[in-house]
Amino acid sequence: MSLRFRLTVWFTAILAVALVLFAFLVYALLYRELYTDVDASVQSKAHDAALSVRYEKGVLTAPTRIRVPESQFRAPTLYTEIRSIGGVAIWRSDTLQGSDLPLSSESLATARGGDPVLETVIQAGQSVRLYTAPILVNGNLVGYVQVGRNLADIDVALQQLRLWLLVSIAFALAAAGGGGWLLSQAALRPIDQVGNAARAIGLAQRLDRRLPTPKTADEISRLVTTFNEMLDRLEAAFIAQQRFVADASHELRTPLTTIQGNVEFLLREPAMPVGDRIEALGDVADEAARMARLVNGLLALARADAGRHLDRSMTELRPIVESCYHQALALARPTNISIELVVNRLEPGARVLADPDRLCELLTILLENAIKYNRQNGLVRLVATTEGRSHRVVVTDTGRGIAPEDLPHVFERFYRSPAARSEDGTGLGLAIARWIASEHNARIAVESVPDVGSTFTVTLPALQPAPLIAVS
Ligand code: ADP
Repeated sequence: MSLRFRLTVWFTAILAVALVLFAFLVYALLYRELYTDVDASVQSKAHDAALSVRYEKGVLTAPTRIRVPESQFRAPTLYTEIRSIGGVAIWRSDTLQGSDLPLSSESLATARGGDPVLETVIQAGQSVRLYTAPILVNGNLVGYVQVGRNLADIDVALQQLRLWLLVSIAFALAAAGGGGWLLSQAALRPIDQVGNAARAIGLAQRLDRRLPTPKTADEISRLVTTFNEMLDRLEAAFIAQQRFVADASHELRTPLTTIQGNVEFLLREPAMPVGDRIEALGDVADEAARMARLVNGLLALARADAGRHLDRSMTELRPIVESCYHQALALARPTNISIELVVNRLEPGARVLADPDRLCELLTILLENAIKYNRQNGLVRLVATTEGRSHRVVVTDTGRGIAPEDLPHVFERFYRSPAARSEDGTGLGLAIARWIASEHNARIAVESVPDVGSTFTVTLPALQPAPLIAVS
């Protein structure tokens, strides 16, 4: 069942309930009002008639004309009859045209007991409201007065009202149903359009397409805006993924081509001098190692993309920094770069919530770059400090620096500044470093001055230092 149909049905059903309740209320109120009027009029007429009779010497007589309003205006629907104590009619209004008003034995008995009776009777196919009351003179019952009121006009009026209410309710429901159907079509059309456009985008696999945003600031325009924003993110993710795959294949192709070339060369020239053979095999080993680094980097980033999180625990920071420093010393040994460690401004027992191996990997990436992109006889400083509620680990070098236009991109995957391409590298190091930093709720920032050097700063949130244990 379509939403449009359901909306219309609900709308019409609610309106139907409201209209029926309203009609019922109007009818009931009018019905009560009319009947109250009728009852009041027959009672007052009976009262007037009873006042007009005479009772003398045990004989009840009625004047030829009873002075009541009907005698002037001759309401044709009112009938009056005065009866003697024996129930014999002694006076009838002209409207009765000589016939009697009905008087049942029950009503007579009740009136005889002193109580008036108000009832609706059917007389000659007409419903008549009938009031029968005793006439008392000095507390003695001397006769009865009966007043009837023909209800035909009221019945007709009520019947017409019923008809009118029915017709108007039916008309209102038809109009509301039809109007609701058209309105809901107009209201739901934009949703249909959004659905069709979204389907078309899906079928054409065109993530660059956007839905036109309606100018109205309503739910539909919010839906379209949200949908377009989602497409923005999907497109960005899709492009990033495509670029990642393309870059990865490109980066892997270079070492593979070199390995293939060298192996083919070795196969072609079995009698190759030992020196050449060693050189070719050395190339193969270097490229294989580069590929291994690349694949490891790709694997780390793929795991990060898949939402893998690090296992962190309370760890003392200083041993991690010192261990990374020793690794860096080993890396720098073949070069003439010197490395300096400064940890005296690090709070004693400084602790962080960390995965020690991964945190060390992050610092090693920074230290490796600081060595790799340094100048001859350059210096690398590894400084750890505590400032307020955070610990900072800063790696500074005196190398070639990073050009301002490269600076915003160095953390991107596979990004290598043109100047760095001569150096061995994968372009994945800083992307991995940024992921590790984010897993530690840490910030990583870079400042660099070309030909002066670069500074990478990792800011980690501090934990309370471990309590000092006194050893006796
Ligand atoms: P890789 O070092 O393998 O190229 P990274 O992701 O570690 O990849 O670094 C990305 C780029 O950032 C490098 O290619 C280089 O251009 C630049 N870079 C990183 N660290 C430094 C540094 N300490 N000095 C100068 N340039 C740097």
